[in-house]
Amino acid sequence: MRARALKDILLQLQNAAARAGRPEPRLLAVSKTQDATAVAELANAGQRAFGENYVQEAMAKAAALEGRGLEWHLIGHLQSNKAKEAAAIFDWVQTVDRPKLVEALARHRADDRPPLNVLIQVNIDDEASKHGCQPDDVPALARAIATQPRLHLRGLMVIPTPHPDPEQRRDAFRRTHALFDALRAGYPAVDTLSMGMSDDHAIAIAEGATMVRIGTALFGARPRKDA
Ligand SMILES: *Cc1c(COP(=O)(O)O)cnc(C)c1O
Repeated sequence: MRARALKDILLQLQNAAARAGRPEPRLLAVSKTQDATAVAELANAGQRAFGENYVQEAMAKAAALEGRGLEWHLIGHLQSNKAKEAAAIFDWVQTVDRPKLVEALARHRADDRPPLNVLIQVNIDDEASKHGCQPDDVPALARAIATQPRLHLRGLMVIPTPHPDPEQRRDAFRRTHALFDALRAGYPAVDTLSMGMSDDHAIAIAEGATMVRIGTALFGARPRKDA
C-alpha cells in the first residue's frame, strides 16, 4: 500500500516538474511518528532519503534500519546541546539557523564520516514564532559553514507560513528561490532548495524546489499533536 503511495507521489513530482519545465526534485520521505516497519516498507520500494524532526526518535529508527543504505535528514529544530547526537546520526541537517549550531555540528562530526550536509533554514515570512534565520543573515551563515571542513553547505530550506490556501505560499517560495540563486552564485557546490510538503509540492516545484519533504501523502495522517 505504501509502495503504491510512493509510486503515485513520484509520478506527481515528475508531472509537476514537466509542467513547470523544471528538473525533477528529490523526494524526502518525512517519517516522523512512523515506526521502523513503515520506513522499511518504503525503503523496500526504493525510497532512500528519510526526514525526521526529533533526534531521539531518529536515533532508534536509524539503529533499527542500519546497513540498508538509508540517508537520514534532520528537518526539526535542533538545540545546540543535541548537536553531538545529531552529527552522529544524520547525513543532512536542514535546520541550521545560527552560528553556534554551525560550530557545534562541525566540532562533533567525526573525521571518519563524510562531511555533514547542511541547509540553512530561512524564516522567509518573518514569523516571530518560527525558527530559521532572517534572509539577511544567510551570507554570514554561509561563510561560517564554508570555513568548516566537517560541514558541506548544500543550500536552503524553508517552511512558509501555513496559509490555508497553498497558492498563498507561492510568493514565499519565489523569494526563497531568489535567495537560493544568490547563494549559488557564491558557492557553486550549493545544489539543494528544500521546500514544499504534501499540500503544496506542485507550487514549490514550479518555483524551483530541488527537494520536497512529504509525510502525510506517503504515510497517511499523523496523530494530531504532531501534525
Ligand atoms: C512534518 C513536516 C513535513 C511533512 O509535512 P506533510 O504535510 O505531512 O507532508 C515537511 N517538512 C517539515 C519541516 C515537517 O516538519
